[in-house]
Amino acid sequence: MHESHFLLSAKARSLSLPQIAEWDEETVFKTFCELRWPKTDGVPICPKCKGADLYHIKARQQWRCKGCEEDPDCRHTFSVTSGTWLHSTNLPLKTILMAILLLADAAKGISASQLMRHIGVQYKTAFTLYHKLRSALLKTRYDKPSMKGEVQVDGAYLNPYIRVANKAEDRPAGNRKSSMEETCILVIRQAGKKGEGASRTLTYVIDTENANDIRHHVESNVNSNATIISDEHQAYGDLEVNFERIVVNHSICYVGPEGENTNQAESFFARFRRMFKGQIHKASREYLDLYANEVAYREDMRSTPNGQIAFDMLTRMLTMENDSPFRGYWSRSNRNPAVASSGVPSSMGLAA
Ligand SMILES: [Zn+2]
Repeated sequence: MHESHFLLSAKARSLSLPQIAEWDEETVFKTFCELRWPKTDGVPICPKCKGADLYHIKARQQWRCKGCEEDPDCRHTFSVTSGTWLHSTNLPLKTILMAILLLADAAKGISASQLMRHIGVQYKTAFTLYHKLRSALLKTRYDKPSMKGEVQVDGAYLNPYIRVANKAEDRPAGNRKSSMEETCILVIRQAGKKGEGASRTLTYVIDTENANDIRHHVESNVNSNATIISDEHQAYGDLEVNFERIVVNHSICYVGPEGENTNQAESFFARFRRMFKGQIHKASREYLDLYANEVAYREDMRSTPNGQIAFDMLTRMLTMENDSPFRGYWSRSNRNPAVASSGVPSSMGLAA
């Protein structure tokens, strides 16, 4: 998590929409400044030349850079969201804050149309804001040291549901197979303190449970002193080259004689399944990593106060520079990737 003195303050412990509604503009503005520039306690820095000598254009809540040693002619004009992923939203800061709090509170996610109604914006605006958040969560997920201790690894397949034709004569003979390629979500979860469940979760979208991908993702993220727990699938066998590995043979039992299990990996898939069925309905494979990582983030933050989650989400969006992958998304195309017809249908299941 991005730490700053602000996130630990009383304001972040618990937050509600009525509370935010009562904040004056100055409080909202200061909150954004503190989240964007945590190192200087909210004092702005020119995003172009990093200079701190600024002229404050109060009426527009903007600053103009007076230049610095490296770039004496910098006259860059910027706001608290300029150059970040929130730059092009055009929403009032208070509305953004309320939207992010709603997203922070939605343990199983929320649909873009629900968000649209709650904050009174167009569907496109709600959709883009949510997808920018998902992208920022994905891009900033490697902000912690590699996993150690007990690490559970498991994969689950997305099985597209095949609609059965009404008339028997229209139904294809033989084994019905979806045209969608097989898709597997690999989850890597570090166990937390005893009785507390997993403390960190990473997810990857792969074709099938295969030794190459599994070894690559596990070795990139897990300390070699860690103990890997997986099921008996042969694709996990190669992990024994670099790790101690405990196998829970699911064809015999789900909890081994020493209590070893992959329950935390399984509980991730249960969460994912609920969010997918409840909110997303359909998704093209291209966006699955965003959804899987959103569930991972929510799982890892499950014991964190909601205000702190909202501020953490905002910090991640405000510290992303350059254009987000969803900037101008709707002007390029009207195709909604979350409901693309070629995607995974809502009634897909997750098989272990
Ligand atoms: Zn400057």
